[in-house]
Amino acid sequence: MPEMPEVELVAQTLNKLVGGRKIIVAELLRERLAPFNSAADFAERLQNSKIMRVDRRGKHILFDLNNGHTLIAHLRMSGRFMLLPLERENPKYTHAAFYFADESRLVFQDQRHFGFMRITETGKLHEAKELKSLAPEPFSDEFSPKYFREILKTSKKSLKEFLLDQTKVTGLGNIYASEAMFLAQINPQVSANKVSARKAGNLFEKIREVLRESIAHGSTLNVNPENIDASYYGGGYSFGWRVYNRENESCVKCGTAIVRLKQAGRSTYFCPKCQK
Ligand SMILES: [Zn+2]
Repeated sequence: MPEMPEVELVAQTLNKLVGGRKIIVAELLRERLAPFNSAADFAERLQNSKIMRVDRRGKHILFDLNNGHTLIAHLRMSGRFMLLPLERENPKYTHAAFYFADESRLVFQDQRHFGFMRITETGKLHEAKELKSLAPEPFSDEFSPKYFREILKTSKKSLKEFLLDQTKVTGLGNIYASEAMFLAQINPQVSANKVSARKAGNLFEKIREVLRESIAHGSTLNVNPENIDASYYGGGYSFGWRVYNRENESCVKCGTAIVRLKQAGRSTYFCPKCQK
């Protein structure tokens, strides 16, 4: 499943590739992809709309249209965008297609059927159920060391579970939570409200660092417009993980074997010596 940095890279790439372009016709080919819009409504709201900008909020990709609507898209497990020329057929599992004037089209393909789309009025975007409970973005001014210290105090959950809670911190998934805690040298099992102010300040910096590093790295990769998402997932950055997916391998700092444990059903990786 893509995490925030990968979604950011996909949104940035989509903005470059289709920002400013006009959708002539849109087709919803799997109705359950957009449970709040019928196929007819989907087509009608997108027809002849110009994509002003493609942006991101949490792991949602936002297509800001010039007709007062925004298309919200979530890739979930396996959703991907593909910008295809006329001569290419729609791949299997094409669930939506957006046709442009030059006869190219943007396709949303989703082998595992968990993807999500919704078209909503841009003026009511902040009220959309998918977005309204999300915490501040990690690179926004609202996400400050003070905010982070105070929100940590409100939770008795383990730090790892706290970091995955998108109503507290937006943008950290399983991979980058482990990576940030490693860099900040904090034990993932400590209660969020027991993290000292000094450690909270350090972790705040490391959260930004791991996300920034991943986005910067992804920005250097070659992107295939016909398979945008695959250009980022699990590719380049996975070689740079310090603890994630490295059970029993040596800690890059001290050589101790990396430990994997389950927290709320998900794997956490950490160094028991560096992260006491
Ligand atoms: Zn270590």
